[in-house]
Amino acid sequence: MSVPDASAGAEGRGTRGHAGVTVRFYEELNLFLPPAVRKRPFEVPLPEGGTAKAVIESLGVPHTEVDLVLVNGESVGFSHRLSLGDRMSVYPVFESWDIGGLSRVRAAPLRVTRFQADVHLGRLARLLRMVGFDTAWGREQDDAAIVAAALRERRIVLSRDRGLLKRRLVTHGYLVRSLEPREQLGEVLGRFDLAAQVRLFSRCMDCNACLARVSRISVLDDLPPVVAETCSEFSRCVGCGKVYWRGTHWESMKRLADEVLHRLAGAELRRMFTG
Ligand SMILES: [Zn+2]
Repeated sequence: MSVPDASAGAEGRGTRGHAGVTVRFYEELNLFLPPAVRKRPFEVPLPEGGTAKAVIESLGVPHTEVDLVLVNGESVGFSHRLSLGDRMSVYPVFESWDIGGLSRVRAAPLRVTRFQADVHLGRLARLLRMVGFDTAWGREQDDAAIVAAALRERRIVLSRDRGLLKRRLVTHGYLVRSLEPREQLGEVLGRFDLAAQVRLFSRCMDCNACLARVSRISVLDDLPPVVAETCSEFSRCVGCGKVYWRGTHWESMKRLADEVLHRLAGAELRRMFTG
């Protein structure tokens, strides 16, 4: 898929008749805007020295949701200073778009997808760990600590709080829409195109460390008798030592993951057929 309207703004340059800049948001970025200005160009006032990032965020769109900004048809960085009469097109983070020679607003994508969930997303953090993604989460962390940890460890911040994602230091983030943990899992896997990287039960849901396969004999003392008799596959967390086995809980978690992946695959197919 190519970027629509990449040459937008070839006309309309110059300051004559303009008190501000013309802005157009694409795809799901429109969800942040009032209905009257969705999916169409509209003019906004330009503050003295206004940058692309300042204008985008003044409209309620967190900069972490944005992957590509075109001004008068050319890709620019967030710090680009706008001029009266400029036309700015703003595109969301959308992994499957081929934006080829255009440069994205961030320098480099994070190579390994790691997450930092905010305090309210503990259940999502556990589900992400269950499907194998390195996800930091702490009950006590305030916003500043979350952002600092994300920067230090190159993690994508997950939050339902726009204010947190608008913090200047946040370079990679995603605003979680749903309130329901399994829908949130689907959202995150879909947004970052992660379905192919799912590794079920490779990571501890409690502490985020990796799980190692172990023999029954080595964990016998930690098992309820019925589990020792009926289960044959065991893992132990290399961090906290918790033992996992392939029992009824494992099966219900696997069903949950299968369901989320199935729904994602369906959405992908629908997108292919509807363009
Ligand atoms: Zn653990």
